[in-house]
Amino acid sequence: MLKTALRPSPITPSVDFYGKGVQHGHLRLPYSRDDSAWGSVMIPICVIANGEGPTALLTGANHGDEYEGPAALFELAQTLDPAEVKGRIIIVPALNYPAFRAGTRTSPIDRGNLNRSFPGRPDGTVTEKIADYVTRHLIPLADIVLDFHSGGRTLDFLPYAAAHELPDKTQESRCFDAVAAFAAPYSMKMLEIDAVGMLDTTVEEMGKVFVTTELGGAGTASAKSIDIARRGTINLLRHAGILAGSPVAAPSRWLDMPSSDCFTFAEDDGLVAFVRDLGDAVTVGETIARVYPIGKTGLAPVDYRASMSGLLAARHVPGLIKAGDCLSVIATVTENT
Ligand SMILES: [Zn+2]
Repeated sequence: MLKTALRPSPITPSVDFYGKGVQHGHLRLPYSRDDSAWGSVMIPICVIANGEGPTALLTGANHGDEYEGPAALFELAQTLDPAEVKGRIIIVPALNYPAFRAGTRTSPIDRGNLNRSFPGRPDGTVTEKIADYVTRHLIPLADIVLDFHSGGRTLDFLPYAAAHELPDKTQESRCFDAVAAFAAPYSMKMLEIDAVGMLDTTVEEMGKVFVTTELGGAGTASAKSIDIARRGTINLLRHAGILAGSPVAAPSRWLDMPSSDCFTFAEDDGLVAFVRDLGDAVTVGETIARVYPIGKTGLAPVDYRASMSGLLAARHVPGLIKAGDCLSVIATVTENT
């Protein structure tokens, strides 16, 4: 093993992970800079523990411009009664805190994309140090991990909870049972464009139950999408046995991303005019969006066609697009419940 892998994390928690009741504190990461010589990044954390039981790790703002997770998790941290808890809930509502403060996907300190920085490094960038702490100090405490995402400023999604296909089929079915318990309007068997460096992969490789979400996007959150996040989290905690009662069932359509054909990427810069909206059924070959050149009038748009039949599950936002941007994701409907 490399010597650096054994280096302790520079992050100090102000909470006791083995304490009881509710603790609100910080993960303090030293960050020396021009405006604060011995300054720190202070990542909010809450631990709620009572009695024997499993541990859930709940994280939001892994990407700093995605808001359903933080909205639901700041609320739960403030309102959950430890008397109702059996086990432990660790809440980090704004995991990439510098990015969250800046309202950007990646960190303004080092441009680090936290969800491409796992397992991280204790002697790396600020973002890599956060990833390393999560990998070596938070995930090992957890039986179940819920990491909230949505589309951020450049994508918008149908609201879904998701898990991945895994080599260990027992673990995979435990993950999909947890997705079903979350009961978002859509439930996805999710394919990643590139799973390297993701929190998801790190948690899954440790054999834990992992649920992720995409609950909307476009750089904001709605009352509806925050409510899905809040209810889903409570359902998941009930499913894990940490909160009493059964998950509240709600209709969910099961979707699949069967191959990389589900992704369409822009090959042109321009104005994107969608002719299908999120949730619309699309048939292979039909036009889902037109990209207009914007330098002058009189030029034909480039039509982007559905590469497969299914539902429009994600789309680019806002109105202008660049070559290489993800224009759309199509998912197939596997089941209605
Ligand atoms: Zn994200």
